[in-house]
Amino acid sequence: MAEKSLIIIGGGIAGLAAGCYARMNDLRTTIFEMHALPGGLCTAWERKGYTFDGCIHYLFGSGEGQPFHQMWRELGAVQNRPMINHSEYQRITDGEHTLIVYADPDQLEVHMCALSPADAPLIRAFCNGVRQFTRFDMSAMYCVPRPIMTTLDWRDFGMKMLPFVLPMLRWALVPAKTFAARFKHPFLRRAVAQMFSWEEAPLMMGMSLLAYLHTQNAGFPQGGSLAFARALEQRYRDLGGELCYNAHVEKILTEDGRAVGVRLYDDAIYRADYVVSAADGRTTIFDMLGGQFVNRKLKRMYSGHLPTHSQVQVSLGVACDLSAEPHWITHLLTEPLLIIGEDHREIGVKHYCFDPSLAPEGKSVVEVMLRSSYSYWQRLFGRRSYDSEQRQVSSIVIDFLAQRYPNIRQHIEFTDEATPLSYERFTGNWLGATSGWLLTKETMPLLIRGVPKTLPNLKRFYMAGHWVEPGGSLPLAAASGKNVVQLICHAEGKPFQACEPT
Ligand SMILES: Cc1cc2nc3c(=O)[nH]c(=O)nc-3n(C[C@H](O)[C@H](O)[C@H](O)COP(=O)(O)OP(=O)(O)OC[C@H]3O[C@@H](n4cnc5c(N)ncnc54)[C@H](O)[C@@H]3O)c2cc1C
Repeated sequence: MAEKSLIIIGGGIAGLAAGCYARMNDLRTTIFEMHALPGGLCTAWERKGYTFDGCIHYLFGSGEGQPFHQMWRELGAVQNRPMINHSEYQRITDGEHTLIVYADPDQLEVHMCALSPADAPLIRAFCNGVRQFTRFDMSAMYCVPRPIMTTLDWRDFGMKMLPFVLPMLRWALVPAKTFAARFKHPFLRRAVAQMFSWEEAPLMMGMSLLAYLHTQNAGFPQGGSLAFARALEQRYRDLGGELCYNAHVEKILTEDGRAVGVRLYDDAIYRADYVVSAADGRTTIFDMLGGQFVNRKLKRMYSGHLPTHSQVQVSLGVACDLSAEPHWITHLLTEPLLIIGEDHREIGVKHYCFDPSLAPEGKSVVEVMLRSSYSYWQRLFGRRSYDSEQRQVSSIVIDFLAQRYPNIRQHIEFTDEATPLSYERFTGNWLGATSGWLLTKETMPLLIRGVPKTLPNLKRFYMAGHWVEPGGSLPLAAASGKNVVQLICHAEGKPFQACEPT
């Protein structure tokens, strides 16, 4: 395929992965990235010696020999990168009780039963679910893209999935908050709903997360998100790929129902045999392609009824060592805090002392993430109140922290806020979404069925990234990049190949 060329829009994890696999398969490849950094949402920013991480809490595939690990090896992302594994996912406290969300289901079961013996049957069912999903190979869903799976592929896939059909039927469509409502203990009713960061999270997702934490396949890559993205960028360059920064694609060019290239905002035109968009889904379909290649299903998908997740992240550089504190603790409040126009009844506080490379010695990075509506910030944008609202959020957060962490206020050296508009501006993601479609019982069927990576009546064009992998995440974004290259190889009648760096 030496003569075939490919343009990739977006240098996030999906675009970089697509680029690496394209190069492994001898496609001449150019990535156009509107910013000057790789990684898209998988990013971090440095201020006054502190590195504020904007993404990874856990990386599926961090564990050697485990699901998704081989893909990360091929992408050169995990070699020589220590993975930090936590034995507890987080703690949740109301001041009187504390739920320690142990990754080990045996430890979790004993701990939760001690908190509420009356809830033992529910707790056992939950922990059994976690135990079952320790053997679940999620990556099997992304080995070969569905449209080109052979009978043999379907057989292998079926064999891998068969043992999980019953647990999936039982847990895939149960939101954490629905499950939590079954608990007798009032604290666990609140805490279990918050276990996986959003109440609508399907229990199957949460169980898989704990299962992978337990098998040490959901670690934090030392150095954080940007260093991780840079490793993929390096791999892509080593494979001979071309990467253009500050190259903002305005239009995807089409001729006779085929994608033939792109036009940038500076009017430069680039042509190629194939185009892959690893950028925001809505912008790709309705702006870059002018909504010409859609059907009713796609229009409905992007009508705004499916859930997305947007947030405000307050990051603090603190000149004291918080490593003795739990790395992640969610406080359940008795009285709600009014922040960003909404009542917040839970505040999650995270520090990154587990990775000393992210702050100067003896100092700590602290982050607080608050769910926040995109439209609220959009209404303020362009007015002075936008800046004052940002400052007000951090001031409320700091007041809150000062009550729980004595002396923290005088140690704060730097404060930074990112709003849903920051995410949108930096990555182009619709509504400032952090992971495409939020995984809930509404979007879980899309994840299981799979979202097509092509558009109706448009040849030689593919989509990769979290808008075609509901629930998003780094491994799914990268796997989608690999899958589109598999589709291109199939269209070219060539076998797909993958290799690790030598
Ligand atoms: C706070 C937060 C926490 C997260 N935690 C985790 C976690 O713990 N584990 C996990 O696995 N995942 C996590 N995620 C989700 C994960 O980061 C995303 O699902 C994943 O990075 C999506 O990658 P992507 O390549 O599909 O999209 P993006 O990262 O959005 O990349 C798209 C790229 O396209 C570029 N682009 C857009 N439009 C254009 C254009 N017109 N021209 C040129 N370039 C363009 C953008 O600049 C961007 O670089 C988290 C995300 C956030 C925000």
